[in-house]
Amino acid sequence: MKVGVPRETVPGERRVALVPEAVGKLTKAGTEVVVESGAGAGSGHDDESYRKAGAAVADRNAVFGADLVVKVQKPSADEIALLRDGAALIATIQPLTNTDAVRALAGKRTTAFSMDAIPRVTRAQSMDSLSSQSNIAGYKAVVVAANSLPKFFPMLTTAAGTVTPARVLVLGAGVAGLQAIATARRLGAVVEAFDTRPVVKEQVQSLGAKFLEIELGEQGEGTGGYAKELSEEAHRKEQELVGTHVKDADVVITTALVPGRRAPILVTADMVRGMRPGSVIVDLAAEMGGNCELTSPGETVVRERVTIHGEVNLPSTVAFHASQLYARNVSALIGLLVKDGALAIDLEDEIIKGALITHQGEVVHAATKAALEKA
Ligand code: NAD
Repeated sequence: MKVGVPRETVPGERRVALVPEAVGKLTKAGTEVVVESGAGAGSGHDDESYRKAGAAVADRNAVFGADLVVKVQKPSADEIALLRDGAALIATIQPLTNTDAVRALAGKRTTAFSMDAIPRVTRAQSMDSLSSQSNIAGYKAVVVAANSLPKFFPMLTTAAGTVTPARVLVLGAGVAGLQAIATARRLGAVVEAFDTRPVVKEQVQSLGAKFLEIELGEQGEGTGGYAKELSEEAHRKEQELVGTHVKDADVVITTALVPGRRAPILVTADMVRGMRPGSVIVDLAAEMGGNCELTSPGETVVRERVTIHGEVNLPSTVAFHASQLYARNVSALIGLLVKDGALAIDLEDEIIKGALITHQGEVVHAATKAALEKA
């Protein structure tokens, strides 16, 4: 079996799906790997390091001719056209919103697995790239904020007097939010956090942050441990709570997402107006429309004298480790798919069932099928 690793072509994407460490493990186990020249450049891996790991370095056509192509980003129309008919693909397809690509993959009879559809079950933890990459985004969000804020994060006692610590508010305490809390605490900030899922309260507190509590009048938790969309009344109550805390925050980091929906607006333009000049917002929900009304996805803007970072791909800015962890996630999935050197797909396996989007010319993923019908 031959595995192909192309260079990512989305602007600003520096990650690669397999780093030499992961390639070495595959080649030692007898899998042939072909890497596109320059694929690892953005994450600090030159062609030579792939050759040393046992891979062949070749051009794009050769890589897309492999039995299994592994990518970070969703495949473009051009990339799908290059895939061999009936080959397999692993990528972050975002199948619910990327319906054209799903149709094209089915048309190519691709056996396509989406990393963002892997079920969040204990057995699949090693394959969970949503977690590995969110963790990085949460960390880097704090670094970005600290870099923009014209203040220290820690409290400092100096000969020139005492400096008070920065106040950080984290909205959404999933994987990214919890890492943001931990990183901001390590830098010495005073941290408050809120999430509509009350189960995260203990996790927030164990990181040394204060959990903000309100009676929403309903459960914020939907299925599979994810949040559900709040009713209008609960959303209004939440905005009220957020408003009273945003005005005292130096930094607001927002990570609130509801699967398949536009991100909820938690920080309104009015709230931004009420913040102190020089304060910073890092909106990790920018790609899904943003948690702040004034966020401009993919840009850093100054509005009402507040710097607002509309981050859409922070993991790419930590390309070395983001690629290393993504590669381990992909390798774990490959381990589940390959038996005796060939693809052996057990359609009854819970993880495979969850992540397999198209197979033998059909869209086989229930939620994706529903999204296609709606589209
Ligand atoms: P996510 O990225 O979908 O959302 C981020 C956070 O935003 C969530 O905590 C969500 O509750 C919160 N949120 C949504 N609407 C909000 C609102 N209006 N106000 C405030 N917060 C809001 O979530 P995620 O980080 O991917 O994690 C989702 C779930 O999956 C969590 O329960 C997590 O613990 C779980 N998980 C399980 C595993 C596993 O068992 N292997 C691995 C990773 C995550």
